[in-house]
Amino acid sequence: MKSNFNDLSKRAKELRELLNQANHSYYVLDSPNMEDAIYDQLYRELINIEYNNPSLITSDSPSQRLGGKASKGFQSITHNIPLLSLDNAFNLQELKAWHERTTKLISQEIKYQLNSHKLELTCELKIDGNAIALTYEKGILTKAATRGDGKEGDNITSNVRTISTIPLSLGLKNPPPILEIRGEAFMPNKTFERINIHRKNIGEMLFANPRNACAGTLRQLDPKIVASRNLDFFAYSIHIPEDWELLNLNLKKPIAQSDALKFLKDIGFKVNPNSQLKSNLEDANSFYKYWEIKKNNLPYATDGIVVKVDSFTIQNLLGSTNKAPRWAIAVKYPAEEKPTKLKRLVFQIGRTGAVTPVAEFEPVLLAGTSVNRATLHNAKRLNTLNLHSEDTIIVRKAGEIIPEVINVIAELRVSNATLVQLPKNCPECNSELIQEANEAVTKCVNKNCPAILKGLLLHWVSKASMNIDGLGEKIISQLINKGYVKSISDLYKLEINSISSLERFGNKSANNLLFELQESIKQPWQKQLYGLGIPLVGEANAKSLAKAFNSIEDLSEIISKSPKVVTNIYGIGNEITDSIIHWFSDPQNILLIKELKAIGFSLGKTSNSNEKESEDNINKSYPLEGKVIVLTGSLNSMTRNEAKQIIEDAGGKVTSSISKNTDYLIAGENSGSKLQKAHVLGITIINEKDLQLLL
Ligand code: NAD
Repeated sequence: MKSNFNDLSKRAKELRELLNQANHSYYVLDSPNMEDAIYDQLYRELINIEYNNPSLITSDSPSQRLGGKASKGFQSITHNIPLLSLDNAFNLQELKAWHERTTKLISQEIKYQLNSHKLELTCELKIDGNAIALTYEKGILTKAATRGDGKEGDNITSNVRTISTIPLSLGLKNPPPILEIRGEAFMPNKTFERINIHRKNIGEMLFANPRNACAGTLRQLDPKIVASRNLDFFAYSIHIPEDWELLNLNLKKPIAQSDALKFLKDIGFKVNPNSQLKSNLEDANSFYKYWEIKKNNLPYATDGIVVKVDSFTIQNLLGSTNKAPRWAIAVKYPAEEKPTKLKRLVFQIGRTGAVTPVAEFEPVLLAGTSVNRATLHNAKRLNTLNLHSEDTIIVRKAGEIIPEVINVIAELRVSNATLVQLPKNCPECNSELIQEANEAVTKCVNKNCPAILKGLLLHWVSKASMNIDGLGEKIISQLINKGYVKSISDLYKLEINSISSLERFGNKSANNLLFELQESIKQPWQKQLYGLGIPLVGEANAKSLAKAFNSIEDLSEIISKSPKVVTNIYGIGNEITDSIIHWFSDPQNILLIKELKAIGFSLGKTSNSNEKESEDNINKSYPLEGKVIVLTGSLNSMTRNEAKQIIEDAGGKVTSSISKNTDYLIAGENSGSKLQKAHVLGITIINEKDLQLLL
């Protein structure tokens, strides 16, 4: 649907207000009220509206201003050369677009002026700190200023003098009358943590991130406090008077960004050691991908890379807009949290009948993969979020894995939005939903609900229970829809003809499935008990119960006569005991036990040799169940074979090549083409540490 002009004008106004408020919190109070990535996305939305409708640009739009204003308590300094920001790219396609634009500009404007218009690129880390301009007069540091609004910044000279990595005088024989150096002041991660612990102890508000902590420190009125906070500085640019002759014979006057970095180092500055000169876009892409993984090992925060045209001649010819140079671009790393627009809410029913609201929204790229659905966990959470139709929601990938909705930007709510509520009836079977007193969960209690049956069957065939590989979600849905299966025991009554009539089944695969089903009858008592899906009885509890009771009959009898005996078992409390009693009170479950026994399930201890092995394994969970994983590069803490074993033990599958079915690529050092392919396919890339977290 095309938005009309009035809607866009309203939306632009809302965004302006929200972003101006965010700028104030960020730049003036050093206390952001939203995540940077969310700011960036909303800012993008405003820029797009303004670009397509220039009449909507107002003078108070954040797009017309750069950064913050000079603050109270400091004198302001006018920058001799404007201290600009950088344009942003949020992925490699946008970097490519910048590269194409820049190359085109060069070939149009510059080809007559240069012998070669090869575009060499300096790639640097984007340090997540604060830009600072340093003025050296005759080689002595005389002024230091923040960026401010790009034209005027705060005079923070006394504070900057306390940063030990900023030289107070330069290593030059004949320093020019004026030399301007720019770079990033930052707070190392360790210092940031230490300061926040201290602030917590004394009851002060915590800094949101190292960048805000650094900004807050630079604006301290007492230089002693600044000195105590161990700020650091990386220099990355220099403005040298054109007519100045360099007398140091061992130095070379820079004519390109890569020379400038070397020169800065030679005259006494700390320069980030990770920059690299690249001769083409592909190599710049690899630099980005490499640091996307490695950035977490750095002792300071980076939020992307900066790609700069190397040659100063080309830089000068490309020039700047009023906000940023055309010859450089910051490529930011994908965020873990992003705003998006809610499309609708669907309600899923699990095996216990619990309703889980799931939000469907405009797709967003989260931690490298496109996401368009996320859970809200339960009805209580839905109420807390106070979600309305078409709301702008914030989604994130918890632990980079499960997407969830964490917040709503109520300020961006459309005027005719309606509150999203839980349905009164089950979306699958239409029976009335029930909310038990004091429970966060709303449930469908219809025993014949197809969604509950599907959940129960999926649980029964899962690795920790019957471990029937051949029965996936799609096949189970077909079996239910065709009416072949109405309970767990029906799986064992399936005939070859009905299985081979299912999609993608032939005689051979149908026979394999029948074989797997027969084999599953031998699974030990603990796994059978777990597979019954008694609410609140997880793997560990099933093990304890199976150890304490010889059979399902024993359990049923004792729990009804003296529930205390069960409650006394380690790990089983009143709530679980009540849940088991409730489960046994359902005649459908008693029938299931009878039928499973008739099929051949022991539902009790046997002399079967599997029992021992399973007792050892029963405490295991399968955090990687169903996940397809590819390994690449060399790992530090284990061999490839060890990693494979660990993944398989956790229920995952290791394959040798990347495809769209791959869930994770574990990338070690010197990862090659697989890493690139994973990026192209949008596969989640993790390292060894992340694997440990998943486990
Ligand atoms: P920016 O942070 O996107 O990038 C520009 C800055 O990068 C430069 O000014 C410089 O300080 C820095 N930089 C780091 N390493 C560099 C290198 N090697 N070479 C050159 N520059 C380097 O832009 P910005 O204008 O400083 O800040 C805008 C950003 O601040 C927004 O995109 C947003 O992420 C954040 N912000 C957040 C909020 C919020 O509410 N969370 C509000 C306002 C701004």
